[in-house]
Amino acid sequence: MSNILLFTLFYLLISGCIIYPPYEFISAGLTIESVFSSFLGSENAQFIQYHIKKSVYTIIVHSLLPFAYVLGIYASIEEPFEVSTILYYAYHIFLIFSILLPTKILYIINDWAKRNWIDHPICKNLQYFCNNDTSWLSVASSINTEYRRVDKICIQLNPIHKLIVTDNWILKVTPYSIYCAHQSDTTLSVIHSDSHNISQQTHGEVQFINIEVKSSRTSVQPFTIRLNALDFKDLQDKVSRPITVLPTVTFHKTIVERFIDAFKQQVYLNPRFRTEQELENCIGCMQVTSNIKLQRQCADDTSNTSDTNCQVCHCRPMWCIDCIAKWFVSRQDESENSTWLSAKCTCPMCRNRFCVLDVSLVEQSPSS
Ligand SMILES: [Zn+2]
Ligand SMILES: [Zn+2]
Ligand SMILES: [Zn+2]
Repeated sequence: MSNILLFTLFYLLISGCIIYPPYEFISAGLTIESVFSSFLGSENAQFIQYHIKKSVYTIIVHSLLPFAYVLGIYASIEEPFEVSTILYYAYHIFLIFSILLPTKILYIINDWAKRNWIDHPICKNLQYFCNNDTSWLSVASSINTEYRRVDKICIQLNPIHKLIVTDNWILKVTPYSIYCAHQSDTTLSVIHSDSHNISQQTHGEVQFINIEVKSSRTSVQPFTIRLNALDFKDLQDKVSRPITVLPTVTFHKTIVERFIDAFKQQVYLNPRFRTEQELENCIGCMQVTSNIKLQRQCADDTSNTSDTNCQVCHCRPMWCIDCIAKWFVSRQDESENSTWLSAKCTCPMCRNRFCVLDVSLVEQSPSS
């Protein structure tokens, strides 16, 4: 009996790892995708066809899991079950189920193949996007073409779900299917967010957001993407539609964003720099007029030229406050984020040192 219990525990662990592979399994190549890679072809060349094949292998492997359990139990029993005990019946009922399940699955797959995969969940989803008399194959070839472009984004949402955004498509790949949405008729909204502490010492926090993707086409199923808030910007940049954030959802700022806020607050308190000169666009973002001048104002001793003291920068205003804040934070040691505000940085142009107290907003006084 203890053998059966031991095997059951081992079986649950291994089948859990097959269905939802932990990162150790993935890096060791112990996933259905890697094991059957030679039969799957190239994802880059034939994205949809690759995932149809992959889902078929996944379904077959998953359907064989109960049979593997029966075999394991058979090997681990020391003496056969006594006829007419509950275990005897349970074992045989499970045995029949474990044989019927893969048989039925193989029958369904054979049916799909005979009808040119038209009933496969992926192809069914693609058919909703067929216009006029076109078949799922034409939708598939448009997705395949866009997937080959280098500017698509791929985000691994978790070990088994992947998000792909191409110029026109939003695709969520799952083990058995692909949820699709065409950007032209889709609305995206952030419906939920939750944060988790990853480390007590650094107050490191990871935030996840759930985004609902809804197509206005009839019969296209809406689906949810759950992604790390850090990937949100990438998604927003690639999606041509605005992503609405429900008022009930709060976005936590990253440490860098919070630092930039604190940096700007300090700069607003610093003395201003007045000038009559014409100001050009910020050379960092080219979007806004430059509004920052670095001028030494902190209490550092000028006569002391040690390499930690602030220095005098003679550069004309060339940066905006956001760009200088980003530049400042990019030069800091990531692990020392509690001391960023008291740290120093070098001017992007002349390399002279400055601190946050030396950053002045530029005020233009009208030339007389
Ligand atoms: Zn700028
Ligand atoms: Zn300078
Ligand atoms: Zn200084």
